[in-house]
Amino acid sequence: MPEEELRELFAQHPDILFGFADIAYSPYAEQYASALVFAVPYGEQLTPETYTEERFEGGIQSARAKLEGVVTQVEGILRRHGLRYWVPPVAQENETELLAPFSFKFAAVNAGIGWIGKNDVVITRRYGPRVRLSAILIDAVFTYGKPFVRSECPDGCTRCVDICPCKALKNRRWTIDTQRAEMIDYHRCNRMRSAFIPKLGRKSACGLCLAACPFGQPAAAAKGEAAHADP
Ligand code: SF4
Ligand code: SF4
Repeated sequence: MPEEELRELFAQHPDILFGFADIAYSPYAEQYASALVFAVPYGEQLTPETYTEERFEGGIQSARAKLEGVVTQVEGILRRHGLRYWVPPVAQENETELLAPFSFKFAAVNAGIGWIGKNDVVITRRYGPRVRLSAILIDAVFTYGKPFVRSECPDGCTRCVDICPCKALKNRRWTIDTQRAEMIDYHRCNRMRSAFIPKLGRKSACGLCLAACPFGQPAAAAKGEAAHADP
């Protein structure tokens, strides 16, 4: 059974959160019934006290390297079972709409991995927003996670909103029907990060609104306060 094998694979990576989502909501639903979604913790779980942009970027890159290794292992299992699958690209297709073809974020919400915080990223109980997401669309049915439909951010928390240097976040509490434009002025965030290209040779990772989040601050993560998102 591919599901059992996939679950065994993730049991070997206990730091990675994962879940399966029914993607009936997606334009890809005709080709693929499900998404396997997983969240790899950043190499460093930074707080505003320990944050530097370079360390933040380094944490993202080390999570990416680990994630790519896991994708390869998942592909091996899917191929062995003759299942049709697709690994959607992470990157936005253009700088106008700033949207990826398949939203890992929305799939993560539907897989029960986390909800969307006021910083417009997925918040997991174990790591807060300090994770890199990936998803693989698969033409098979699995045991699905329980989708999040509303924010579990503490009432009145505005740490991410307050720390944003360009005031891109709109202090909006998320529910499943909330649109991205109601949460964040993404162009404003993108402009601020793009302004660093001449200096860094890339956009600034920024991520201050992730470092500020109380969920998954390193002390909480060390105690293992949250379990896997899978049922
Ligand atoms: S990444 Fe930086 S600029 Fe963008 S919303 Fe977060 S804090 Fe603001
Ligand atoms: S800082 Fe507070 S409001 Fe922002 S995502 Fe984290 S818990 Fe939610």
